Formats: sequence, C-alpha cells, structure tokens
Amino acid sequence: MKKLIAGNWKMNGSLPANEALVRELAAGFTKGQCLVAVCVPAPYLAQVRQCIGTSGIDLGAQDVSQHVSGAFTGEVSAAMLSDFGARYCLVGHSERRQYHGEIDAVVAIKAQRALAAGITPIVCVGETLAEREAGLTEDVVKRQLAAVIHTNGHCISEIVVAYEPVWAIGTGKTATAEQAQQVHAVLRGQLRAATAHADQIHILYGGSMNAANATQLLSQPDIDGGLVGGASLKAVDFLSIIAAAK
Ligand code: PEP
Repeated sequence: MKKLIAGNWKMNGSLPANEALVRELAAGFTKGQCLVAVCVPAPYLAQVRQCIGTSGIDLGAQDVSQHVSGAFTGEVSAAMLSDFGARYCLVGHSERRQYHGEIDAVVAIKAQRALAAGITPIVCVGETLAEREAGLTEDVVKRQLAAVIHTNGHCISEIVVAYEPVWAIGTGKTATAEQAQQVHAVLRGQLRAATAHADQIHILYGGSMNAANATQLLSQPDIDGGLVGGASLKAVDFLSIIAAAK
C-alpha cells in the first residue's frame, strides 16, 4: 500500500500564500511516490483545486457538517465539499473535539456524511496527556474508533484513520515510533475485527511530524502515512516528509 501524507493547514493561508505553497509542492512532488493531500480551509477549496491542476496532489477539507442540508447557518455539507473536488475530509480532529464539543457520535455521523458523498473521511483519534498518564490511551482511541465503526458498518474499509495523540499536536513533542506503533497495532486489530479489508486501511500518525522524525515513524509496520500540521505550511518541510514516505 502506498503511504498517504496529508497536510492540515488549519486556519492558515491567504490567496497569494496558498498559490505559492501549492506551486512549490507541485514542482517538487513526483506523481506516484506516495499519496499526497492538502486539507485546506473551506473558502480556499476552489482556489487550491485550481492550483493543484494535474499535479496528482489531492484536495481535502478540514470538517464537514453532520447535517445533509438546511437551516444550519455557517455549516458546510459533504455535497458542497464534493462540488469543489474534495477527495478527503478530516473528521473529529482534536481541535474540533476540544473547541467545538464534537462527541464520538457526531464524529461518526460526519464520517457517514462524507462517505455518502464519495469523500474519504480521515477520522482522527487520540488521547490527551492526562488520559495517557492514567493508562487510558487504548480505551480512549478504541472508544473513539468504535463509534465510527458502529455507525458506518461495512463502509468502514473506506475510511482513513489518523492517530493523533493530543499532547503531540503542535507542541513539538512527538510520540516515539514505538509508542505510535503500539497504538496503531491496537487500531489495526480493532479494524480487523470489523472488516476483512483492515490491512488496506491507511492508519496515519499525526503530532509534530517533521523531516527529522518522519523516516522512523513511517518505517513502522502499522504506520501508513502522516497527518501533518505545522510542517505542511512550508513546502520544503512538507516535501521532505513526502520524500521520507517513498
Ligand atoms: C494536526 O493538526 O493534525 C497536527 C498533527 O499538527 P502538528 O503537525 O502541527 O502537530
């Protein structure tokens, strides 16, 4: 399976900055190396779609509404994301769980909405530092993934999972390759119990992944790629992570 490297721009960017970043990425990326996506703020989907052209980079969104359509001011539906060429959509990112109160059941429905629109949800799971220190890491990630499995049934083989320990996101603290692999193996086991296609599901690691630590993380048997925040905003850094994923 080819590795998948997805960038999460979070709430960063501007028309000129996006154009420059995507231009540099497209110039430095050789198609077929691995799968690459950029998850951009919703207003920039159309612009980035155009800049990406035929480079082979895929487009992703950062969130999707749990509703199909209607009186939900400010929300963006899966069909709208699809209209703008989104191939992926993050769901349940820890910043959404933390600042927007997204509970497991909502994350599961969001994944369902994305799948129904032909978009691959990148389902984020991960424990806080307090949960890790209390020995609850496995319980937490399994509970978060179980909700998505329960709601999505046999479609579960169509998702991407991202293990993102909350204490490693944007902090410069990375899980060691061994710590990450241990959790990825747990998630793989849970997926195997749900589908015969578990070995084809990408399980990404996210949390301060950078050029220096990417090779070791990506060489673990159950780490199938990365979800990259800060380091996806600089073409040279993101390209070196992509190079490590060959
Ligand atoms: C993220 O936001 O998904 C992430 C992994 O961020 P960072 O790489 O900056 O830790």
